[in-house]
Amino acid sequence: TTKTRFAPSPTGFLHVGGARTALYSWLYARANQGEFVLRVEDTDIERSTPEACAAILEGMEWLGLNWNEGPYYQTKRFDRYNEIIAQMLEAGTAYKCYCSRERIEAMREEQAANGESQKYDGHCRDLEPKDSDEPYVIRFKNPTEGSVVFDDHVRGRIEFANDTLDDLIIARTDGTPTYNFCVVVDDWDMGITCVVRGEDHINNTPRQINILKALGAPIPEYAHVSMILGDDGAKLSKRHGAVGVMQYRDDGYLPEALLNYLVRLGWSHGDQEVFSMDEMISLFKLDDINKAASAFNTEKLNWLNQHYIKELAPDYVASHLQWHMDDQKIDTSNGPALTDIVTALAERAKTLKELAASSRYFYEDFAEFDATAAKKHLRGVAMEPLQAIQKKITELPEWTVEAIHQAIEDTAAELEVGMGKVGMPLRVAVTGAGMSPAVDLTLFLIGKARCEQRISKAIE
Ligand code: GLU
Repeated sequence: TTKTRFAPSPTGFLHVGGARTALYSWLYARANQGEFVLRVEDTDIERSTPEACAAILEGMEWLGLNWNEGPYYQTKRFDRYNEIIAQMLEAGTAYKCYCSRERIEAMREEQAANGESQKYDGHCRDLEPKDSDEPYVIRFKNPTEGSVVFDDHVRGRIEFANDTLDDLIIARTDGTPTYNFCVVVDDWDMGITCVVRGEDHINNTPRQINILKALGAPIPEYAHVSMILGDDGAKLSKRHGAVGVMQYRDDGYLPEALLNYLVRLGWSHGDQEVFSMDEMISLFKLDDINKAASAFNTEKLNWLNQHYIKELAPDYVASHLQWHMDDQKIDTSNGPALTDIVTALAERAKTLKELAASSRYFYEDFAEFDATAAKKHLRGVAMEPLQAIQKKITELPEWTVEAIHQAIEDTAAELEVGMGKVGMPLRVAVTGAGMSPAVDLTLFLIGKARCEQRISKAIE
């Protein structure tokens, strides 16, 4: 069965590039009824932090990229790596290298002077095993002839001549295994059948394949995904604003919008822009990923976000909106159901953050009127319609949108003015501002008691 993995290094947030790689890997597993493994590559002790680990898991969970296995942590697998290294020394596919730093430096300088590519010259490759307390590293005995070829799902056939590849250090002087080696052992042990990762790893692939071959391990398929650029064409970085996935949550995006945005960023299916999760799973193909780098486009993300705020089930959107209400310290326990707020306000909101902010008056009394709206619709001009509608509202036998609507209509008819001459002052009176959903619905959601109070306050 298909088994893919996402293998982040916990040195920072889950950024959008990593999230897209994870999504592609996850989709490929799902599309093939396979499994998806999460593996934390935390061997770089200096740069890895527990906070970053937690942030990555949080990002994956928020996106809904659930894993079947893991998270595995490489730092917990050192015994296993050392076991394989011992086997390789035994089998002669790895060797101890005692070359001093000075010797390596001198070798490099000479290679540079001769315009040769920089690689270990194999000085210790065929040393007789010796009993010595000199420090050593352990190197992989890379084949010297032939080449490594693999068919990359994104980039096609890729070939590296073996004589251009180094005898890779697989264990450092202090005995700790190195990055490329851990990846190989993990991919093998975890039964990974397809490696999806960033194109910055493409030079590691032939080295990893050679080690896999030396271990008699099956060689997975590969898909190296290209970079994401900012809208200015430079490599996407912190400069381009929100790059950590959770920042998008904070800024009011739905995970559906970000996932849909990310799947299209570097992959396409005709000119379709909107993909449900089921569609992504059934239509996504690694072979259709673009080779070229893709540029981030915030407007498109915003468009998708608006789409999903409007189209997804209001109670689902409300479950995400609750986070923003809490974040903006709006107490939703006293006021309309959040689902109704979503239904009423979805049409206008670009983000959940905006939606939350614009719903405050449903739950809290506002401190003051929007000056422009008050000047235009309240001060002096509107006391008569407000007093008239106040009476009708107080007397309303039932609190429904229809009844409120009727009350406004009747008031306007009695005063022989347009509906707006009643509706606008009323809106400003109960919301504090000149913009809201339909005034009858707005009043209905705010509730009778609050409306009465606010109207009297506006009349004072
Ligand atoms: N840990 C690597 C990274 O974060 C990914 C390695 C891999 O996928 O093989 O870039």
